[in-house]
Amino acid sequence: MKRLLRVLLNVVTTMSLLLFVVTMILWVRSHWVTDHLWLSPLRGVHYDVSSRPGLILISRSALTGRTSDIYSDSLDRGPGWSFESSALPKAPVSPFTPDGSHPAWQWLGFDHLAYVQSWPSFGVRKFRRIIFPMWSAALASALPSIPPLVRIVRRKKWRSEGACPACGYDLRATPGRCPECGTRVGASAAKSKE
Ligand SMILES: [Zn+2]
Repeated sequence: MKRLLRVLLNVVTTMSLLLFVVTMILWVRSHWVTDHLWLSPLRGVHYDVSSRPGLILISRSALTGRTSDIYSDSLDRGPGWSFESSALPKAPVSPFTPDGSHPAWQWLGFDHLAYVQSWPSFGVRKFRRIIFPMWSAALASALPSIPPLVRIVRRKKWRSEGACPACGYDLRATPGRCPECGTRVGASAAKSKE
């Protein structure tokens, strides 16, 4: 059981580090290129994930109450997905608007925008968008791997100090076995102190 837990923890740590690296690459990339992923599960509903310099934008648009047979390619393309990358414009337009979150949140790179638009001859469109900064994604992806890394560094330090590698108890008086937690320690661990 303990072994399984350790394997699971290693998987989570590796995934988190991998995600962190991917986020960092996307972060740097976002200053040169705009990535755009478009996904529609059904006609009239689509999700949009795109990058801006240092930012990630995720939006959902849903068209309901259709009143005509006019179809708009940008609003209700049929189900499917697409991905495209384009060079960043020379003067990129800020995605933040006064209709979004408080300016303090926007300054940090966070935003939430929601509105309902209605066209009498077309239908009603519900739009919702969140923006978050790449740094928050990098931080969130790195977080799960911090405790295991701290543990590894601490264990290394304890070992080099001649302390118990499991609990850090001073083993200079009792080399070989930790009186605190019972961990058997190789003689070399205590000797390395000298
Ligand atoms: Zn111990």
